[in-house]
Amino acid sequence: MKELHYAFGIDIGGTNTKIGFFDHQGALLSYHHIPTDKSLTPEKFIERIAQESFTLVAPLGFSRGDKRIIGLGAGAPMANFFTGMVLEAPNLGWKNVPLKAHFEKYFSVPSVIENDANLAAVGEKRWGSGKDLSDFVLITLGTGVGAGLILNNSLFRGHDALGAEGGHVLIPHEKKRLCSCGGMNHLESFLSAQGIKQTIHELTGEEWKIEKLGQLYHEGNQRAKTIIHTIAHELASGLTSMAVLLGPQAFIIGGGVSKLGEPFNQVILEKLNEIVHFSLKGKIKIISATLSSDKGAIYGGAAHIFEEVKK
Ligand SMILES: [Zn+2]
Repeated sequence: MKELHYAFGIDIGGTNTKIGFFDHQGALLSYHHIPTDKSLTPEKFIERIAQESFTLVAPLGFSRGDKRIIGLGAGAPMANFFTGMVLEAPNLGWKNVPLKAHFEKYFSVPSVIENDANLAAVGEKRWGSGKDLSDFVLITLGTGVGAGLILNNSLFRGHDALGAEGGHVLIPHEKKRLCSCGGMNHLESFLSAQGIKQTIHELTGEEWKIEKLGQLYHEGNQRAKTIIHTIAHELASGLTSMAVLLGPQAFIIGGGVSKLGEPFNQVILEKLNEIVHFSLKGKIKIISATLSSDKGAIYGGAAHIFEEVKK
C-alpha cells in the first residue's frame, strides 16, 4: 500500500497566525490559530509556531522528524518564493527575515513561502473551484485585496515574485481615495474591508457588517442594493483591466467579502460584461472560492508543498 503523505499549511497574518495539518487529498485534519506575537523576534516566533504545530498533531500520532510529513507551505506578507526571504513587512515589523530557513530549522522538513493570495490560488487549483481551469485569477477580498494568478496551469509571480499585485491596479473613479500602499485610487482603496466600510458609511451614514449587507440585499433593501452595485462596479473596473491583459477563464472570489456569495457574483458579472472589451463579453465566469473564506492560504500552503515535492 502506498504510504500516505501529510503537510502543514501556515498563514502568518498581521493579527493571527493559522496552522493547518492536511493529508495529500486536501482534508484538513487539525487546525489551530494563535495571535501573531510581534514582541518576539521572527526566529523566536517561528520556533513558537513549530511548538504549536507539533502539539497540534501529537494526538494524531505525529511528531517532529516523522517521515510521513513531507513539508510545509507558509504564507506571509511580502514572502518571496525565490529568495525564501521577507525583505520588509511593515505590519509585522519584520526586516530581512530568512523565513524559509527558519521554518526548515524548526520543522526539520522542506518548506515553501509565498504571499497569501498566491497560496490561495494554488489551493483552489489543486482542490477547489479552479481544479478544472487552466487560467484564472483568484481575488482575495479581506483586510486588503490580493490576487493570485494561475496562467497555463502554473502560478505566475512576475520577475523576482514582484508581480500579481492585483489589489494595486488603478481604477477610474470620480472620488479620490488613498490606498494603504500610499497610491491613489487603487482597487484596494475601494474593496479592502476599510474601503467597503467607508463606502457603506458614505451611502447610509451607518456601520454595517458584510453579513448585514448580504442579509438586507437578500431582503430587497434598496440601500443595500445601491451598495452592492457600487462595490461590484468598482471591483469590475479592476477586473476589466486584468481580464483584457490575461484573458482568464474565471475570476475566483475569496476572502471575507466572498461570504456575499452568488448574488454578489451575479452583480459583478453583470458589471464586468457591461464594461469589458467586446471580445471578452460573456466569456469570463465569476465564481466563489470553495476551500474557505478564511483558510484559503493554509490549504494553499499544503497544496503548494505537495506540488513542490512531486517535482
Ligand atoms: Zn495600492
